[in-house]
Amino acid sequence: MKRLITKEKSSKRRYFVKIFGVVQGVGYRPYVYNQAIIFNIKGFVSNHGSSLVIDIEGECKDIKGFLIKIIKTPPSLAVIKKVKVTSKDYIGSKEFHIKSSSSDKNEIKFIAADVATCPDCIRDIFDETNPRYQYVFTNCTSCGPRYSIIKSLPYDRINTIMETFKMCPVCNKEYSDPTNRRFHAQPNCCPSCGPSLKVLTSYGEDLLKCNPIIDTINYIKQGKIVGIKGLGGFHLSCDAKNEKSIEILRNRKNRPHKPLAIMVKDIETAKRLCFISEEEEKVLLSNKRPIVLLRKKDSNILPKSIAPNLNKIGIMLPYTPLHYLLFQNNISHLVMTSGNMSGESIQYKNDKAIKYLGNIVDYFLIHNREINISVEDSVVKLVNGEEIVVRRARGYTPFAINIKAKHNILALGAEQKSTFSLSQNGYAYISQYLGDLKDFDSYNTYKKAIRNLMDLLDFKPNIIAYDLHPYYLSSKYGDNQIGKKVLIQHHHAHMVSCMVEHNLSKQVIGVVFDGTGLGNDGKIWGGEFLVGNKKDFIRVGHFKYVAIQGGDKAIKQPWRIALSYLHSIKYESNNILKAIDEDKINMVKQALDNNINCYETSSIGRLFDCVAALLNIRHEITYDAQGAIELENIMDVSIKEDYDYLIKEINGVHQIYYEDILLGILKDIDKGVRTSNISTKFHNTIGNLTIDLVNKLSKKYGIKDIVLSGGVFGNEYLLTYILNELNKKDFNVYYNKQIPTNDSGISLGQLAIANSIEGNE
Ligand code: ZN
Ligand code: FE
Repeated sequence: MKRLITKEKSSKRRYFVKIFGVVQGVGYRPYVYNQAIIFNIKGFVSNHGSSLVIDIEGECKDIKGFLIKIIKTPPSLAVIKKVKVTSKDYIGSKEFHIKSSSSDKNEIKFIAADVATCPDCIRDIFDETNPRYQYVFTNCTSCGPRYSIIKSLPYDRINTIMETFKMCPVCNKEYSDPTNRRFHAQPNCCPSCGPSLKVLTSYGEDLLKCNPIIDTINYIKQGKIVGIKGLGGFHLSCDAKNEKSIEILRNRKNRPHKPLAIMVKDIETAKRLCFISEEEEKVLLSNKRPIVLLRKKDSNILPKSIAPNLNKIGIMLPYTPLHYLLFQNNISHLVMTSGNMSGESIQYKNDKAIKYLGNIVDYFLIHNREINISVEDSVVKLVNGEEIVVRRARGYTPFAINIKAKHNILALGAEQKSTFSLSQNGYAYISQYLGDLKDFDSYNTYKKAIRNLMDLLDFKPNIIAYDLHPYYLSSKYGDNQIGKKVLIQHHHAHMVSCMVEHNLSKQVIGVVFDGTGLGNDGKIWGGEFLVGNKKDFIRVGHFKYVAIQGGDKAIKQPWRIALSYLHSIKYESNNILKAIDEDKINMVKQALDNNINCYETSSIGRLFDCVAALLNIRHEITYDAQGAIELENIMDVSIKEDYDYLIKEINGVHQIYYEDILLGILKDIDKGVRTSNISTKFHNTIGNLTIDLVNKLSKKYGIKDIVLSGGVFGNEYLLTYILNELNKKDFNVYYNKQIPTNDSGISLGQLAIANSIEGNE
């Protein structure tokens, strides 16, 4: 007996466990508490800085079981980055408790992203007997707002915009009860103590409606447009089946063609509209709830004007209680487009929304839970069964990735599809998508988002990284910051954004296909083959320069681009660009002859614009890359032919001559070949010449790692064409997945480059 007791004593241990990652505000402490009770573990759990610390004592086998449980199956929202376990002297604690939070300035900080409403909370809002029946601000530790409401860390109620709502005794009891799923759910509230909804007229007059949701549904059924305040900002909403409403919305928003995202009632409704793979379904239903780009079925459920000339539509499922409640009384499809004028940033404050969206909407459905920082809906698609992030925002940001950064760097991104990144304690944080900075309001939102994240992380940069282009507003912002300035070439940043994602550090061949970016020679690049690493690069190949007339105007009017290309190959034909006024054509020709307002570019994006215009697909565009996108959408993928091209090595740099490609296209146009065939042949040609040049460069430089990046790789056909061919030839091919291939990925690339340059890597 005596021996047994001694054995029992000696098998007791004490350990100190520290868990790093997204571990706060996700229900981890109550989970640990409950498991400690089950496994008979004594000690405490606490938030420390942004990590979780657990001091545990118990039998060896219990500790083992407990640790496996809490680390292998953490709460669904937790993201564990690192676990540290240290042994301590046994002190014989008598109970297990949750200790209050403590702060730590010097450790890695993780900020939780906003999360879609969980199944338990959905059950609550549809249960007539539940106090939260139909209550749209229902949440728990597994769901609800996070990043959009956090004002400072640690993530406690007092540091969120919910501090203004004092919890009622019932909510407070839930909040303080470790066994309750709302234990320390920071935005916890109920109808008697939390925020509430209101219906306003377009000019902000309170209609004093007692059931704002039912009234909103009625307005939508009547064909009205309603500005709905959501989680990260306002949506402009109308019935997605009502063609007239869509037309009015497009007119008022000044958005004639750009596809409109829709939200549908449930996954079954989505399946009637689109082909949905198992992987796509999983992403649609994930608690990040992004907009997923899905291939349309041939049905007449929705009018074509939702996404004109496109084979895919952007669909999302409800992600807040309010959304779930809107799908009543036969409402099953809602347009849910960002609450802004085309090109502006999303509105997220009640007063400003009324000011700026008042002439778009008929009514507003607003609430008094403030949004601290705006976060738009994320957009993703699936390629080869894997998620590709097109727009990284709600649910996906802020995103932290360990890049072992040695400095505190602020990287400011590009100008369109802007994001910023910053590094602290080795980690890089990437901001949400912040739109096009040229718009004054977007620029202000961008500046506010930078300040906000810097405050949250208590961050001061010593290095500022930004684009070489002096006129980007992000560059001008960078000029005015305090710290060492590092200027970075746009396409190098694209390449490195992909290298960071795939943890590549050796030399790679970078194929960067893009719209525009300033090159080291002062010309506009965009069809680039680079050899380099994170620190620097050489330009080893590019599309031959062409002089484009018309400056910024040309981007909006691809017929000018087509004319510029035709001029460069001295092609005279009156059959081409017939739809354009002859006087205008002559003016551009004269300007080209005299080199007035022309710029030289190697951009492949411009070549796509040119072909779209030559094929009469798009002479003028109303959204970014519309010509190229529509060109991809008309393709007939059964066509395997291509056009001739020429690659010449001049002074060690390979130049791709586009002449033969254009002449081939023009000949086909003359012969009356279908535009869908021409488009496919053009895509195949770009694919083939890329593979050809990669082969040449690989032999020359002895490199097998190929990185594909830049906005043009948003073109799925081109990406998979090149990928499949290169994979057959034992190359290691990498492309952007979680870090957008478009300009939203630039800031992370800049950050990694600045870190390499300054770190003497
Ligand atoms: Zn919940
Ligand atoms: Fe770019």
